[in-house]
Amino acid sequence: HMDITHIKETEEQLKEATNKAETLAITDTLTGLNNRLKLDDELDKEFQRALRYGNPFSVVLLDLDKFKDVNDIFGHPVGDQTLKEAASIIQDHCRRTDIVGRWGGEEFLVICPETNLAGALQLAENLRKAFETHIFPVIGEKTSSFGVASYREGDAIQTIMERVDKALYDAKEKGRNRVEVI
Ligand code: GH3
Ligand code: MG
Ligand code: MG
Repeated sequence: HMDITHIKETEEQLKEATNKAETLAITDTLTGLNNRLKLDDELDKEFQRALRYGNPFSVVLLDLDKFKDVNDIFGHPVGDQTLKEAASIIQDHCRRTDIVGRWGGEEFLVICPETNLAGALQLAENLRKAFETHIFPVIGEKTSSFGVASYREGDAIQTIMERVDKALYDAKEKGRNRVEVI
């Protein structure tokens, strides 16, 4: 049989394990940022707030420039280390209310609640400069390209994300190390 303190202890351990599992499920293992699952969930929340209350929000999608070269020249572990450092640069330049995550590979997404297009452009430009001036160990300089989009009436999540994707594509096309908006 179990006495009451024993039961409480077991309950505590179970709670701890559950919390840990919940955190793991929404965390990107390499960078410690929010993962794609969590980003999709947060995008949906922002979208619902925009629909119901008309709250503005914006997204910034960034993709490291010529990142394949890092792996090819310096090896995969250096590539991984660079992604970790990129994650902290992004986190350091965002507001605490912004949601930062790894969208995939060498792409990161920032969801900016209560932020209009001008505000998101400013954040993207700050980040662009931060990358441009940062010296990474081993690889040295590594720039990044940015797409920016803001919620518009009539948007679905898919249409905002299509715009931000297209904007990022434009930034790459126009020569990289740039911020573009559609
Ligand atoms: P662009 O400027 O057009 O974005 O060029 P790019 O080389 O960055 O683009 P591309 O999509 O061709 O290559 C992305 C590279 O990112 C290829 C892949 O090896 C690397 N990559 C993606 N995820 C990881 C990761 O978790 N770790 C490491 N080390 N590399 C990764
Ligand atoms: Mg890239
Ligand atoms: Mg990419």
